[in-house]
Amino acid sequence: MIQFDFPEHMDDLLYFTNRKLSDGTKILAYVHKKSCPECDNALMGKPINPKTKKIQIRAKEYVCPNCGYEEEKLTHENTLQLEIQYTNPQQTEKKTTHTAYKRKTYKGIPSFVFLNEFTQEKCAITKRLKAKKDED
Ligand SMILES: [Zn+2]
Repeated sequence: MIQFDFPEHMDDLLYFTNRKLSDGTKILAYVHKKSCPECDNALMGKPINPKTKKIQIRAKEYVCPNCGYEEEKLTHENTLQLEIQYTNPQQTEKKTTHTAYKRKTYKGIPSFVFLNEFTQEKCAITKRLKAKKDED
């Protein structure tokens, strides 16, 4: 079975998901954090609550932990790309692609959509219904 190249530093990711579709297709998708455009000295992320030390997943902005520079959520996310690795249904070959880090409604569910070149069909990475730690 073909293996994905996993990102080396999970802490440098804003989003990460690992999926298996009903036809056998496996998908790995992730977004790298962006370097702060102000100081270029740190990766921007969601703010951290100083009391609980927890990431404020529902925050409306991203901040630089080094200089405090802020970017509004959508402005920031519009500059990011979702990197995708996926296999054919037999899991013998893989391809890589990327798409905007922006969910579209696909069959009624907010999803990241890309063209699967093995099947020539649209492939949706659907939003999970229950909020998990690594996703919002
Ligand atoms: Zn900065």
